[in-house]
Amino acid sequence: MSNAILVVGGGFAGLTAAIEAAELGHDVYIVEKTPWLGGRVAQLNKYFPKLCPPSCGLEIQFQRIRKNPRIKCLTMAEVTGLSGSKGDYTVTVRLAPRGTAAHNVDFSLLASSLEGETPSEFELGLSGRKALYKSMPFAYPARYVLDPSTLSKSDAARVAGNKFLSLDEKEREIELKVGAIVVATGWKPYDVTRLENLGAGSVKNCVSNMQLERLASPFGPTGGRIVRPSDRRAPTNVAFVQCAGSRDQNHLNYCSYICCMASLKQSLYIAEQYPETHVTIYYIDLRAPGRYVNVLDKVKALPNVSLVKGKVANAVQAEGDRVRLTVEDAVRGEKLTLDYDLVVLATGMQPSLAGDKLPLPLPLDEEGFIAGGEEAGIFAAGCAYMPLDVTRTAQSGTAAALKAVQTVKGR
Ligand code: SF4
Repeated sequence: MSNAILVVGGGFAGLTAAIEAAELGHDVYIVEKTPWLGGRVAQLNKYFPKLCPPSCGLEIQFQRIRKNPRIKCLTMAEVTGLSGSKGDYTVTVRLAPRGTAAHNVDFSLLASSLEGETPSEFELGLSGRKALYKSMPFAYPARYVLDPSTLSKSDAARVAGNKFLSLDEKEREIELKVGAIVVATGWKPYDVTRLENLGAGSVKNCVSNMQLERLASPFGPTGGRIVRPSDRRAPTNVAFVQCAGSRDQNHLNYCSYICCMASLKQSLYIAEQYPETHVTIYYIDLRAPGRYVNVLDKVKALPNVSLVKGKVANAVQAEGDRVRLTVEDAVRGEKLTLDYDLVVLATGMQPSLAGDKLPLPLPLDEEGFIAGGEEAGIFAAGCAYMPLDVTRTAQSGTAAALKAVQTVKGR
């Protein structure tokens, strides 16, 4: 029997669950697939309810993890096998090579001297990254990653012989003994390239809402300036297309919960940077749950923001890299054709487990959300379970941690 707890996923839900369980006296392993903790929140410019930057909330979580010797963070790690039963699991975890020394060496000068670049996963393709890289200044752990697969010949010569780097580190497997498991694998933005009528991936200056977060972030590819990706010009008019992929039987057959609030928040970003820029939000329904209605009221009061009830039928390239939208205005009963400098698709939230199942006895519903597992001592948290905002994600992380603690204590 083990009273240790495994947390799969190091985003906001997983971090909360890990900290709560560890602070109740349990050993906790966080297994995170990417090189750093923080999940989707780390990619945001600001998040609700207080519109803080992620460095604020995450830094507090990282401090608590840093100070708690009960928490072991395994990054670039994936669960590959499970045996045993509730209270007595053996979990196999595969660790990908990181290629950098275990302590935090500052490779910023060496990294910037490398010439080769590959599209940055963290920046969602809006900029490149080097083969030796770190996603953001407050990344945790603060270790760089060396990715030999993207290292050019000349760059390989530059890093060769550095005693803190390894080009031939191998993947390895370890086993962990745990009594209960929290699954907080989070969400991914719906693949916008599947929205062919909305121009994603083919029409210039048509971006997803997560890409807009990166454009607005001071640590993002433009240093926080919201510009058109094609020419880095400030937009004079911007359109938001709501329900892009959500509430659609051909894509995500549910409301993604957060994307109305995301567009309202992003309208505030634009109004703050460019008070003269006109913003139009095309929506089917505008959902501002609970106290978020205050944000809706604030946006409605902005002089240059229009909220139009209408479905966007398609988006095509227009002159000057503008985006031409065809919209059915549901209130006036008109069909509109209008050009915009920048179009933002309010992309839906899809569970990460959709199409990427874990080797755990976890039933998933038809959309890929976790729909059970508690009888086996496996508890879902955050957006692996349903679409949630950050506050509710944290609450569900706490709830899952307490259930996991009860499981291992009761044995
Ligand atoms: Fe559509 Fe708004 Fe629901 Fe997102 S939150 S799916 S934009 S109604």
